[in-house]
Amino acid sequence: MTEPTPPIIIEVAVALPLDATFHYAVPPDLAPRVATGVRVLVPFGRRKVTGYVLGPVAASSEELKEIVDVLDPEPLFTAAELEFFRWVACYYLHPLGEVIKTALPAGINVASRKRDAGTQADAAKDEVLTGGRKVKTGRFYRPLAPPAGTQPPRGKGKEILDLLRDAGEASAELIRSRFGGSAPQLTRLVELGLAEMEEREVYRDPFREEVFEHDAPLPLNHAQAVALASLTEAMTGGKFAPFLLHGVTGSGKTEVYLQAIAYAVARGRTALVLVPEIALTPQLVRRFKRRFSCGIAVLHSGLSDGERFDEWRRIRRGEVTIAIGARSAIFAPIEGLGMIVVDEEHEGSYKQSEGLRYNARDLALVRGKMEKAVVVLGSATPLVTTWHAAQAGKLTLLTLPERVRELPMPRTELIDMRHRKGDTFAPELAAALAENLAAGGQTLLFLNRRGYATYLICQECGFVLRCPNCAVTLTFHRNRQRHFCHYCDYAIPAPSVCPGCTSPDIGLLGRGTERVEEEVRALLPDARVARMDRDTTRGRGGHARLLKGVEEGSLDILIGTQMIAKGHDFPGVTLVGVVSADAALNLPDFRAAERTFQLIAQVMGRAGRGDQPGRVLIQTLAPDHYAVSRAAAHEFEAFCREELACREELGYPPFAHLAGITLSGTAAAATESAADAAAILLQRLKREHRHRVEILGPAPAPLAKVRGRHRWQLLLKAANRADLHRLLARFRAEVRPPATVRLAIDVDPVDML
Ligand code: ADP
Ligand code: ZN
Ligand code: ZN
Repeated sequence: MTEPTPPIIIEVAVALPLDATFHYAVPPDLAPRVATGVRVLVPFGRRKVTGYVLGPVAASSEELKEIVDVLDPEPLFTAAELEFFRWVACYYLHPLGEVIKTALPAGINVASRKRDAGTQADAAKDEVLTGGRKVKTGRFYRPLAPPAGTQPPRGKGKEILDLLRDAGEASAELIRSRFGGSAPQLTRLVELGLAEMEEREVYRDPFREEVFEHDAPLPLNHAQAVALASLTEAMTGGKFAPFLLHGVTGSGKTEVYLQAIAYAVARGRTALVLVPEIALTPQLVRRFKRRFSCGIAVLHSGLSDGERFDEWRRIRRGEVTIAIGARSAIFAPIEGLGMIVVDEEHEGSYKQSEGLRYNARDLALVRGKMEKAVVVLGSATPLVTTWHAAQAGKLTLLTLPERVRELPMPRTELIDMRHRKGDTFAPELAAALAENLAAGGQTLLFLNRRGYATYLICQECGFVLRCPNCAVTLTFHRNRQRHFCHYCDYAIPAPSVCPGCTSPDIGLLGRGTERVEEEVRALLPDARVARMDRDTTRGRGGHARLLKGVEEGSLDILIGTQMIAKGHDFPGVTLVGVVSADAALNLPDFRAAERTFQLIAQVMGRAGRGDQPGRVLIQTLAPDHYAVSRAAAHEFEAFCREELACREELGYPPFAHLAGITLSGTAAAATESAADAAAILLQRLKREHRHRVEILGPAPAPLAKVRGRHRWQLLLKAANRADLHRLLARFRAEVRPPATVRLAIDVDPVDML
């Protein structure tokens, strides 16, 4: 693109919800700075907007507008990454400019402001260099060879100098943390010519202060060795190779990832590790930092925008060999990938349910294919679709059948709650809680609902307290004496009489973690009890503090939502109680059984990870449902067979491809008629082009109203993906919902609420 022959014309995607890309001319003075992957400021209608340069195009006869400025000194993405972005845009039927915007870290995009172009471009350039955030600088001290005749310092000055000589360099921050205030000593060392100071950019690394002791790879057991050998052999082949690593928690999957990545790194390749947000714990990061001395970047939602941007830039500059992160890390600008790991591949959190509705687990396979990398999907409870693909030979199955430390699987009992409605605890569970406490064991109590009670109902007139913005009941939170909507911000103080008929005879039904906590405290007044859910872990550190309490043994009983079900290793936990196992079973969702199975299996995995055998008690209203009984019996394969048979009969994945279309609007009638119009258009396109696609709906969504917006849904099913895609593409090109109605297409939806 540096060729001087005018005119240079480029293709640009703008970060707006538009499908088309646009051509612009590049004036000669800007030409040297234009490259694929930089952002440019372009005139667009009467505004100026940010666009992404996709590449040069052949001369055009059209009269083209000129770009106003180039916003980046270096490209933000490579041609290979652009290919990936194009694939994502096409597959999810989403505008390319918005895909690129989603892929880049927040804060990097410059909004068009009503200022003159010059100042705006300057401001924009400033933002690029600093990421819209201040670059943080720090002072670093290095020792110098002592000039002849210098008296060696004494006291604190000597200790600091010793540290500098040992470490080669130390930050002012580190010196302060070791020796307290040391500014005079440092100034003196520099004056004496014994040390030099440099002020430079520091990355905001949350682990910077920690010193990591290096550990060595563990000698692998037989199953691990077999798995590792398959992975390294595939890597040697240099071709795309997808694997499913199936093994219960504690079977040594992470150790296999670590050693496979070490192999990739030794061959000069890089690695990307995706984990669900909730599993992205300091313990996991520490395991990587201890094992590897190469650059590691960590991307999680706890980072400030500044920290996130720092990590992104380190990756972009090639300073990072291993990137670990949650969902959005699939877009990390890491080059030379040899291996991609998706741990807990079954986790719903890999799916983004707003904006660009992508699934990072699926995209890992796509990116892996483009990069000719080895992709490992790891799980104790893989998706039945993944299992099916492995059975069909589309993925290579690797199995770690046992826990590394040869611990017996926990003893599991189902408690039929059908004739004990209303009780929080069956006598068996109440007795087990007391016994375990007396024996000094720790207990986890699981319930998938926070708050105190799920609804308020009037015994007189049947009035139920509902959210005015969402079609759900309000949940009573006792410690705050208010009823909250779990979908929007709505909250009201607890009424003392029925808001419908003013009868004082109002009751609270259903139970949440807050109420279970209260009942446990009443039952076992001496127990040290804590609760872990979104209400008790707000803010940084809340989560870690509770986990530490369990780890250190300062808690006897931890009550929680699915937060406690995942990823943590609690050696002292000898009893796990599931207060109600089937809350998720009755959701109107084709994955309800699978989710229930996974949740029970995950919770069971928390028991008996130390030296004591564990015990699991599961209260259920559906003891005969295969999702519940198979989970309790540790029968994953049998569950998969039954679930796949159901899916085949009903035409759900993996036997069909799905897409959801949701229309939402504040006006009920306009939303409904837009949904009708969408269905009519789909039916017409299907007829005209003979697409073999089943069109279901429109119907009100199971959550028929959220945050004041009415929601209608259509579901498309097809045996053939290409048919589904062609119909959606045609639909998208023609559909024109009224301005007040929002339309969203969800390819491969994972929940349909
Ligand atoms: P998973 O990822 O399947 O939960 P991990 O890799 O975390 O399993 O292993 C569970 C525990 O066993 C960890 O403490 C790990 O350090 C240890 N471990 C893993 N593999 C071995 C091995 N081959 N020998 C000894 N300990 C191991
Ligand atoms: Zn009433
Ligand atoms: Zn609400």
